[in-house]
Amino acid sequence: MMSGVFARLVGQQTVEAELLAAARAARHDSAHSGMTAGGMSHAWLITGPPGSGRSIAAVCFAAALQCIADDSDGGPGCGRCRACTTTMAGTHADVRRVVPEGLSIGVDEMRAIVQTASRRPGTGRWQIVVVEDADRLTEGAANALLKVVEEPPPSTVFLLCAPSVDPEDIAITLRSRCRHVALVTPPPEAIAQVLIEADGLDRETADWAAAVSGGHVGRARRLATDPEARQRRQRALSLAREAATPSRAFTAVDELVAAAESEARDLTLERAEIETEELRTALGAGGTGKGTAGTLRGTAGVIKDLERRQKSRQTRASRDALDRALIDLATYFRDALVAAAAPAGVARPNHPDMTDAVAAMASHASPDRLLRCIEAVLECRDALAANVKPRFAVGAMVATVGQALRDGL
Ligand SMILES: [Zn+2]
Repeated sequence: MMSGVFARLVGQQTVEAELLAAARAARHDSAHSGMTAGGMSHAWLITGPPGSGRSIAAVCFAAALQCIADDSDGGPGCGRCRACTTTMAGTHADVRRVVPEGLSIGVDEMRAIVQTASRRPGTGRWQIVVVEDADRLTEGAANALLKVVEEPPPSTVFLLCAPSVDPEDIAITLRSRCRHVALVTPPPEAIAQVLIEADGLDRETADWAAAVSGGHVGRARRLATDPEARQRRQRALSLAREAATPSRAFTAVDELVAAAESEARDLTLERAEIETEELRTALGAGGTGKGTAGTLRGTAGVIKDLERRQKSRQTRASRDALDRALIDLATYFRDALVAAAAPAGVARPNHPDMTDAVAAMASHASPDRLLRCIEAVLECRDALAANVKPRFAVGAMVATVGQALRDGL
């Protein structure tokens, strides 16, 4: 079983067992009629904190549902058959992954998906739609999805991924139609193990990255392998100190925001360039003869549309990067709060490599001041989520943090 697709999940034994049991139940029910509470369901909601592997769990489950290997051959979810490998590679004709390009999934996009998903499966056992970031569905898109989930076609399965079952993440109506499985934050030991076994990292690096990753597998991998990711983390954490120095505070704000933007550019630029090039080639092809004038009139709109999507994708990447930095900062203050309030070793620190700096901060700032710092960071995250300009939001946070810490000195 460990060689099967579910081996990609980190520290999620309970969910793995549940999904595997459902995939087994589904294959022993050729008529797809046994959609019971304990067995298979047409709609699933997979929740879990960022980095716990929601979309990986969904794709693994999709592979297990499509798997053509016998039980004796490691099925369902053997990881070796054609159905498993194509699903995992994203090329299975009956598995669709909906990944929001920008800040939300719109109603038109969802209608088109629902329509394709309602067809009978081609080669696979099921027609499967994985909706990553279902929390980014617009209201219209959620309603379009709800309609089909309420009366699902016999061979269609929807796998929705969201951070939590909170109504802000998933509409109550939609949630009530789904069977729910919840991933947990993987323990550092499990993350370190994966970094060693799958990524070939040494024990020391793997342990460090797993310990400071906040339970985010992808982030642990980046911190272990990318010096720039390590630098960005340092910069975010140094804001805790610099906020208390008025001459440094403004520069620190600019640096933090700029770092998030450049990280987002690095992540999205290459893909954007390829897309633009492909689109230009497609539009340029066959550009003579009948209908050319009409094509040209449409061209500007198509390019503008792509640019809009790319801009939106970059905004989101930049917001995510900034959010990550803010979580680092909040957990740094939390470490100081814990260090001030509890004897060493009671709680596991989020930043075990910063113990000295954290202890120094704890000795200067009282718990209620540290609490005010944490609140300021959380308010900043809320402000960013509500579309406040990053420089304003981060600036306000640094001002509050600075004041709290200066008063405490
Ligand atoms: Zn298989």
